[in-house]
Amino acid sequence: MPNGNIDWFARRSTTSISPFELNNEGKGQALVLRYAGCNLRCPLCYAWKYAWFMQKNGFVYNIQNSIQALRNLLGIAKKKIVWIRIQGGEPCLTFNRILNTITFAVESLTIVHQNIVSRRN
Ligand code: SF4
Repeated sequence: MPNGNIDWFARRSTTSISPFELNNEGKGQALVLRYAGCNLRCPLCYAWKYAWFMQKNGFVYNIQNSIQALRNLLGIAKKKIVWIRIQGGEPCLTFNRILNTITFAVESLTIVHQNIVSRRN
């Protein structure tokens, strides 16, 4: 289960911004974070392969390393970042995950704001 130092995510480490990913969407890019692990079992779940069985299909990342990866984003983003998605698995699965989600949301919004400002200048 998520604890203060680690959490489970759906994306294997393949880039310097893992576990985050950048997807081209519309006129810009989306910054996406997909948690692994959810206990809700919605009948139409789009993410069940990684969301329901975190130990089987998820990947563990250190939270501090994940935040540092996020801060490296400005050197990597090729386009304006127009969306942030923190999605299922369940972003509020445990108390520690809620804290991680809040931290990621604040850091993501700060980075995206910097990204937009730097592209204006
Ligand atoms: S990941 Fe989302 S859609 Fe899937 S079971 Fe959990 S809450 Fe439902």
